[in-house]
Amino acid sequence: MDMRRLAKPNIRALKAYRAEEIPCRIKLDANESPYGFSALRSVPVNRYPDPEAKTLRGLVAREFRVRPGNILHGNGSDELIYNLIATFGGPAAYPVPTFSMYGILSQALNEAKIEIPLDERFDLDTERFMEVIKKQKPKLIFLSSPNNPTGNRFSSDRIREIIRASKGVVVVDEAYQPFSGRNEFLPLIGKHRNLVILRTLSKIGLAGLRVGFMVADPAVINEVNKVRLPFNLNSLSQHAAAEALKNREQMHSHIRSVVSERKRLLREMKKTEGIEPYPSQANFILFKIRGAAKSVSGNRKAADRIYEGLLRKGILVRNMNGIFDGCLRVTVGRPAENTAFLKALRQLL
Ligand SMILES: *Cc1c(COP(=O)(O)O)cnc(C)c1O
Repeated sequence: MDMRRLAKPNIRALKAYRAEEIPCRIKLDANESPYGFSALRSVPVNRYPDPEAKTLRGLVAREFRVRPGNILHGNGSDELIYNLIATFGGPAAYPVPTFSMYGILSQALNEAKIEIPLDERFDLDTERFMEVIKKQKPKLIFLSSPNNPTGNRFSSDRIREIIRASKGVVVVDEAYQPFSGRNEFLPLIGKHRNLVILRTLSKIGLAGLRVGFMVADPAVINEVNKVRLPFNLNSLSQHAAAEALKNREQMHSHIRSVVSERKRLLREMKKTEGIEPYPSQANFILFKIRGAAKSVSGNRKAADRIYEGLLRKGILVRNMNGIFDGCLRVTVGRPAENTAFLKALRQLL
C-alpha cells in the first residue's frame, strides 16, 4: 500500500516545515529574547522549543520499543487527531458512542462522518464496518480501545479484521491502554502500514502538559508531519514529560493504584442497588441509573437527579445524557475520594 497516495493532493504536494539548527556561539537569528527567567532556569524558555522534540521522542521510542522515526509528538493526542483528519481527509468512520473529538474535528475540517453504533455488548459491529469499508471507503477509521465512555476494550480480532480490510488509515486510540494491562497493537506497527496508534500522557498524571504521541509507519508520520505546526509542543512540556518518563517507577505505581481502586469501585458499585455499572479497562466507570420509569425521559431524569445530587455534595462526575441516556461516568480518584463518592451515591439512591 502506498501510504503517500492516501493523503489529500494538497497535502501530498507540501513539504514539512524544517527549522534548521545551526550551531553557533551567539544566536541572533530567530527574533528570540536573549533573557530567560531565573525561575525557569532549567529550561531555556527564551529559545524556541525543539521542533522535533528529539529527546522526548527518543525516550518514548525506547519505552514503546519502536524507532524515533515511528513517533510524532502532539499537543495532546487531540491535536494529532486534528492533524490526521487534515492530512487524510474524510470520510471518517467511528463507532458510537465514543470519544467526541473524532466527530467534532471531522466536522470542523468539513469532512464527512460515518457513525456506526456499537453492538449490544459495546463491541465493534464488524458486519456494519465491513459494509461501510466496501461501500463508502473511509479514509480514516477511529477506534478508541479501551473506549471512552463505555470503558471496555474492543475485541482484538475485530480490530485486526478492520485493519486488514480497510484501504484507509485505521487509528487505534489507546489513551487508556496503561490501565488495561494489554499491549497488543504496538507490536503490529511495521506489519500493517495503515495502522496508527495514539497514546497520551494526559490520563496518567500529566494532562496539564498537553503531550500525546502517534506511532505509525514512517511514511504516515512523514505526511502528518507536514501539517503539524513546527513548535506545537512547548519546551516546558517537553522537559517535564521527559523527566516524568525517566521516572517510570512513580508513573507505574500511580497506574497500579488507579487500577486497584477501579476494581474496588466496580465491586462496590455492583453491590449498590439502583445502578448498573459496566466493566471497565480504563480509569473511569460508566454506570446506568435505573429510572423509576422505563422510558428514555425517565432514565434521563433519573441520571440528572443523581448528577445534581452528587454535585450538591461537592462531587463532580460526567453526565452522559445525550450521548448515553440515563448514564453517568465517574473517574477513579484517590481511595478517600472514591469512598466519598460511593457513600454519596448510596445516600442519593
Ligand atoms: C482523553 C482522550 C483523548 C485526549 O487526549 P489528550 O492527549 O489530552 O488530547 C484522546 N482520546 C481519547 C479516547 C480520550 O479519552
